[in-house]
Amino acid sequence: MTRARCRKDCYSAADSLLTSEDFFGAFDHFCVGLAIVSPDGRWLRVNPAFCAMLGYREEELRQMTFVDVSHPDDIGISITRDCELLGSDKVSYQLRKRYLRKDGNVVWALVNASLVRGPDGRPLHFVAQILDVTAQHRAEEALRESEERYRELFESASDMIQVTDATGRFLLVNRAWRETLGYEAEDINRLRLPDVLHPDYRESCLQAWERLLASDSVGTIEMHFLARDGRTIVAEGKVSCCRPDATTVIVRGIFRDITERRSFEELLDEYRRDLEEMNHKLAEANARLELLATTDPLTGLNNRLIFQHRLEDEFQRTGRYRVPLSLALLDVDHFKSFNDTFGHPAGDVVLVEVGRLLRHSARITDVVARFGGEEFAILLPNTPLEGAVHLGERFRHVIESAVWKHRPVTISVGIASVTPDMNQSGALVSAADAALYRAKQLGRNRVEWAGSEELADTVVISTTFRS
Ligand code: GH3
Ligand code: MG
Ligand code: MG
Repeated sequence: MTRARCRKDCYSAADSLLTSEDFFGAFDHFCVGLAIVSPDGRWLRVNPAFCAMLGYREEELRQMTFVDVSHPDDIGISITRDCELLGSDKVSYQLRKRYLRKDGNVVWALVNASLVRGPDGRPLHFVAQILDVTAQHRAEEALRESEERYRELFESASDMIQVTDATGRFLLVNRAWRETLGYEAEDINRLRLPDVLHPDYRESCLQAWERLLASDSVGTIEMHFLARDGRTIVAEGKVSCCRPDATTVIVRGIFRDITERRSFEELLDEYRRDLEEMNHKLAEANARLELLATTDPLTGLNNRLIFQHRLEDEFQRTGRYRVPLSLALLDVDHFKSFNDTFGHPAGDVVLVEVGRLLRHSARITDVVARFGGEEFAILLPNTPLEGAVHLGERFRHVIESAVWKHRPVTISVGIASVTPDMNQSGALVSAADAALYRAKQLGRNRVEWAGSEELADTVVISTTFRS
């Protein structure tokens, strides 16, 4: 039905409510807007509440049609709805629309319009109840905008955000979540948390998740997600749950993809372990190297190099503190013939055993070294000549009295002590060597010392110990 026809067929005020004084008594006191509108849209009667709503006086409105005060964008729908009533059996409609106040401001209104017909069915007028819902509309708008902002924030967050129920069914996930795990928005409804967890970690992840749920607290959790393409995504996040009512549980989780960080950490760990291992090996190699550099490989005693260092140190100390220092040089007797008779390896065994016996007989502060070939040196710090001669006798005796496999083994010993005329350590070695030479000359298996050739009791000391 066209608008022109509506107007032609409908308008007559003869049986209108306009004639009812009782009605209008109440009409003026309604606090919602009320209006009687002719089928062609003119305001026939308006109540004060409606006038206040639009800022017009009644007389002004009565010169106007509803089109004049409707927002241009809402005129079309208003006319359409009116025509629907006029051209059908429908008696009323409800419409939310905008009016323009006299001051130009927009008023949002909820309009309930009914069509009143005469006894013959002809349309007489519309009765409209107009409720100002501007405040409500603005609140709804504000809510919608804030929801929109929240949704934008939610969607654009770089962290993965998920909202699930207590069974792990996904209610909402953001773009970062979908893109990281490779799911489309339409996949979400059919997914539950276990579906997106890596099978190797599923149990432990779910246990941690359920522990948080049970404790009703916010907690940090590490999840191993399984992306749709099979990649493992390690994510660290916070999970919190809220209970809007007694039966509903909403679980929110905000996760950050730490896969790269974690693999970097693992790589670092690996490097650290390798480095530790290398350091350990290096330390072992250094220790071995030091041992090689300082130890005689056959006997395990200090080598000549170390002996030389210790001799220098002790010689310096003896000059500085005036403490005695002695040296014993020991040489295996007739060792060449031993080798020749029993073989070089058997000779080695003898040298090892001589070294061991000397080490055991010496004091902890003595420096026992292999001096070279079948010669040994024992540096005796804080030991005067007499004490050194006693020790030399002890060494000689220990070797002589040991049980030897092939034949008895003996050593000759030369002793010397630092004397005031010695300027360098070499002098001490030379003096001990001279004494050793003398011990050889005097028949071997004996102890001689520097100056012993001048003392009458030399033989007495040597023979005393030998018996
Ligand atoms: P002396 O009583 O005068 O010391 O006679 P000697 O035979 O012990 O002395 P000499 O200097 O003539 O011989 C030393 C021998 O020591 C010669 C050498 O083969 C042997 N010798 C040196 N170093 C080693 C070694 O590491 N192992 C073995 N088995 N023999 C060695
Ligand atoms: Mg020798
Ligand atoms: Mg010898």
